[in-house]
Amino acid sequence: MPLLGCIADDFTGATDLANTLVKGGMSAVQVIGVPDGPLPEADAVIVALKSRTAPVAEAVRDSLAACDALLAAGARQIFFKYCSTFDSTPEGNIGPVADALVRRLDAGFALACPAFPTNGRTVYQGHLFVGAALLSESGMENHPLTPMRDANLVRVLGAQTDGAVGLVPFATVARGTAETRRAMTRLKESGRRYAIVDAITDAHLLTIGEAAAQHPLITGGSGVALGLPANFRAAGLLPERDAAALPPVAGHAAVLAGSCSRATLGQIGFARDHLPTLELDVLTTPDADALQRQALDWMDGKLGDMPVLIAASAPPDKVAALQQRLGRDAAGALVEETLAGIAAALVARGVRRLVVAGGETSGAVVSRLGVRSLRIGPEIDPGVPWTQAELPDDASGIHLALKSGNFGARDFFLKAFDG
Ligand code: ADP
Repeated sequence: MPLLGCIADDFTGATDLANTLVKGGMSAVQVIGVPDGPLPEADAVIVALKSRTAPVAEAVRDSLAACDALLAAGARQIFFKYCSTFDSTPEGNIGPVADALVRRLDAGFALACPAFPTNGRTVYQGHLFVGAALLSESGMENHPLTPMRDANLVRVLGAQTDGAVGLVPFATVARGTAETRRAMTRLKESGRRYAIVDAITDAHLLTIGEAAAQHPLITGGSGVALGLPANFRAAGLLPERDAAALPPVAGHAAVLAGSCSRATLGQIGFARDHLPTLELDVLTTPDADALQRQALDWMDGKLGDMPVLIAASAPPDKVAALQQRLGRDAAGALVEETLAGIAAALVARGVRRLVVAGGETSGAVVSRLGVRSLRIGPEIDPGVPWTQAELPDDASGIHLALKSGNFGARDFFLKAFDG
């Protein structure tokens, strides 16, 4: 039975939260989409939705369905995870989803804190900063889907909810857990449904987490989850063990790259000298079937313990040329389809340890393989853990590392398979 049930409004946010909880000593499984069966065993279950920019009614419906599944499994506390830049519009979806969860849990109140100091997101006097800039001057004011033109979160959340929003200021949080808890209780008693809570350092997040130990619902970025494992440990509910341990798998190793970011291009450049490497030339052969055939012929006889690397990644001039020829979306879709097909072929040929580079590329691979859940394991580099992916016809699953394009050190593709 999960101690903490989490609802995340996007996929990578869910992984980020799960990774934070595992580092805090809670085992964590990320479930993809509203669960349709029994939940996996873990201290924390994180349901990854695509509700950040979905229509409000759909976001509310899916979040409530996720909440019900988590409660039915026995979750003691619900965490609604959104982006550390509070990505939303005046219509939602943070406010309407939080409203629905507050009602479903009969909570009356929830704190809201997107702060993530490690990534430069801090909240001071209710204002969200990205590095030294106010959210509204950070570039986020030009976001294509969720432009953030006001950094005052009391106002931003206030526009999205019919409930009242208060503030627990920095000075209160700095005085510690008891003061912070009292401030939140006072706000609740005075009729506020939410409190934006200031946090500038991880120490503040630990204070906030401890102060919210008894709250049925917590809302925020993954930072505010830093303090939650300690609550369950203090209550004697969380045994000491290696939360990142994954059941071993036996099978071949491979890396698939579809990210064209500078970090990934550097990682391919490094790995080329050490691993059997196939670089697909999408510009010469803009055809998914033909590219997949090339990859299948090439991998024949090469699969084993030593990873193979198959990359579609290309430098900016080649990407621009393909985009010019096919259009941007079609170019991306062609490469994603190609790599997803190759991933399926690799797994069919016995690959059980697979690194995928690229956010969209990872989404395409996860969806083609029919991955239902990811148990979070040890971190390879900051923000990129190994996971155990449950596949439809294979309960023991495969080890999968999904790397956002810009993450990871230069030797990532080798390091991932060390030890
Ligand atoms: P990142 O995490 O670096 O943003 P993504 O996988 O999210 O990586 O995005 C990279 C996009 O570039 C994908 O849509 C991928 O299909 C596309 N792509 C990969 N290789 C090429 C290429 N050679 N030409 C054009 N587009 C490409």
